Amino acid sequence: MKFFIETIGCQMNVNDSDDISEYLSSCGYEKTTDYLKADIVVLNTCSVRFSAEHKAYSFLGRLKEYKEQNPNVIIGVVGCMAQYAYKEIKKKCPFVDFVLGAKNIQNFPEIINKFIDSKQTKHKTAKKETFKYITIARGCSNFCTYCIVPFVRGQEVSIDSDKIYSFAKEAVDNGTKEITLLGQNVNSYDFNGTNFTKLIQKISSISGLERLRFMTNHPKDLSDELINEIARNNKVCKHIHLPLQSASDRILKLMNRKYTYEQYKELVFKIKNKIPDINITSDIIVGFPTETDDDFKKTFLAAKELKFGGLFIFKYSPRPKTFALQFNDDVSVEIKQKRLYELLEESNIISKKINSNYINKKVDVLVESFQDNICCGRNSQNLKVFFPAEQNLNGKIVKVNINNALANSLSGNMIV
Ligand code: SAM
Ligand code: SF4
Repeated sequence: MKFFIETIGCQMNVNDSDDISEYLSSCGYEKTTDYLKADIVVLNTCSVRFSAEHKAYSFLGRLKEYKEQNPNVIIGVVGCMAQYAYKEIKKKCPFVDFVLGAKNIQNFPEIINKFIDSKQTKHKTAKKETFKYITIARGCSNFCTYCIVPFVRGQEVSIDSDKIYSFAKEAVDNGTKEITLLGQNVNSYDFNGTNFTKLIQKISSISGLERLRFMTNHPKDLSDELINEIARNNKVCKHIHLPLQSASDRILKLMNRKYTYEQYKELVFKIKNKIPDINITSDIIVGFPTETDDDFKKTFLAAKELKFGGLFIFKYSPRPKTFALQFNDDVSVEIKQKRLYELLEESNIISKKINSNYINKKVDVLVESFQDNICCGRNSQNLKVFFPAEQNLNGKIVKVNINNALANSLSGNMIV
């Protein structure tokens, strides 16, 4: 018996899908990468942008045909889109057996047990995973006006720090080398007085853990205490993903981001002063309602001024339930596209220039894949590093001398 899981969206969804996979494996099901061979198909959905929803419906179209030919197949739709479009999915896709929203994703075992023979359940076996994502907080209470997350994942709830510690310790004891702590805004984590800096100190004390990462940071909540901890703590990777969204104060206000560009800039310079080898990456939304050429120019100049290591640029997409729906989506698709390309082009030039500083330097790489005699891993700054190797070095930390730099990756030779 086999299962297939398709994941759309962010690391949170990847993490939820991992939990689902783990449960189904413990029930005796084997994972397949071909949905046409699966007895259970789970589609984990995203709703942050319309394009993610479109992707989900087109996969559901293919699943309809599969179900027609194989009526015993169990099809489930879970995640963020399943949360708010529950009725629509049920109506448009009657062949779907269950729909489970992101807020109740922990109930997956209970739901699937109604369809499968739960007598099959075996004990979960700990498997060795070099990289592990751990969710430290669910939901978000920031209500940025463009964002659907607070509506589909609920308000922010921090998870018990002792539970996070036990989970992390168990993973490290089973071979995990790198942990990434996940939350929509990790900086506002607070469980009974344990704030995010304390949590990082607690997790990084686990012996055997090599690297600790986290995302995402909200500029309004990133404290001096945390900056000092990142600077001081050797296990904490030197990468901060710090979404700016826009550098126009007028647009930032309309987005309800609660900082000005000047405040964001001060924060970036403070971080760079304290942690000179830090890589700061960011998210930008282009074409937010009423964004003028002048507003966009501010964002473009900010990218030049702050020299981000990488940018994720999104075209504004109106989302149900959000406050920004009240604004007129008045920036044309063509202008959104033009702004995205312009910014992306500039961002790639900047990243390539920053990355060229690594040439002739040695970096520590934690290897994650091996194909055609090329290993790939990441350095502390979260840059992909490629190098030739004769054997699979997955899970090992090796030194690589960099001899080439592109906008999104480095390459070089391993030092033996
Ligand atoms: N919590 C994180 C934060 O505060 O930045 C990110 C969460 S969101 C899933 C990831 C990114 O998607 C955001 O930073 C934003 O740039 C983008 N995004 C969210 N809603 C969007 C929308 N309606 N249209 C376009 N991009 C959007
Ligand atoms: Fe969405 Fe803003 Fe929360 Fe990020 S901080 S998840 S963008 S509401």
